[in-house]
Amino acid sequence: MNLELVFVLVGTTHSGNIGAAARAIKNMGYSELRLVDCCGHLTKDALARASGADGVLHEAKRYDTLDAAVSDCQSVIGTSARDRHLAVPVMACREVANEIVSDTQRADSPVRTAMVFGRERSGLSNEEMDRCTRLLRIPCNPDFSSLNLGAAVQVVAYECAQASNQVWVTPANGLTDDQEAVASGASMQHFYDHLHRIMVTTGFLDPANPRHLMRRIKRYFERNRPTEKELNIFRGILSATEKPFPPKKPEP
Ligand code: SAH
Repeated sequence: MNLELVFVLVGTTHSGNIGAAARAIKNMGYSELRLVDCCGHLTKDALARASGADGVLHEAKRYDTLDAAVSDCQSVIGTSARDRHLAVPVMACREVANEIVSDTQRADSPVRTAMVFGRERSGLSNEEMDRCTRLLRIPCNPDFSSLNLGAAVQVVAYECAQASNQVWVTPANGLTDDQEAVASGASMQHFYDHLHRIMVTTGFLDPANPRHLMRRIKRYFERNRPTEKELNIFRGILSATEKPFPPKKPEP
């Protein structure tokens, strides 16, 4: 099975790492590399480390923001060496790979998935992680957990390639219609924005003191992976609260 994977590097500062990532991607049979706010990617260093995966480098697209780079992706998987985030479920690399495979199996069209990698020094920012639907961790020595960027891309690409050759992946629970597509990242973002607006206008959320409310809510929804149809129901409920309420029918 072919997975539609897009590898996104954010804020890379060493062009050699971009070359290493290109090589890793091509080794595992993938080809799409996107660069957000990265250093040059067609340098001598990058081409040397790509070791022949020049095509991936030449085809790589550059973006100003992560949002722009993942706008066409249904799933956005952030990768992180650290367990420090709250909004999005953190899963081991293999689990994520299996989930992508089962999402692809039950969708009627390919599920385009972005794998997002952070800066060499500081990883992804909290805001960038908030943009993700999952956080992926490569399980490793807890006292020395940060892999080189190219190595991290290699492991993730390898696990996805392995998982996509497996046929015994369990389908996700709870869906009555196998063909229902999981909601896209953009739909989820519109839903969160809508929910936030209603929470503020009803006074449920104080924007001056939001605490972790939105992140907790987001974590809940991301854990359950709503489909587009399910999300439309929630959007409908939210929209209904924005209209004047109809007069109550008298009790019989
Ligand atoms: N010092 C940074 C790590 C940067 S390593 C930090 O503490 O966050 C550069 C990138 O490689 C990370 O942003 C992540 O995308 C990836 N990476 C490195 N080790 C990883 C791991 N164990 N699991 C998942 N991704 C990892």
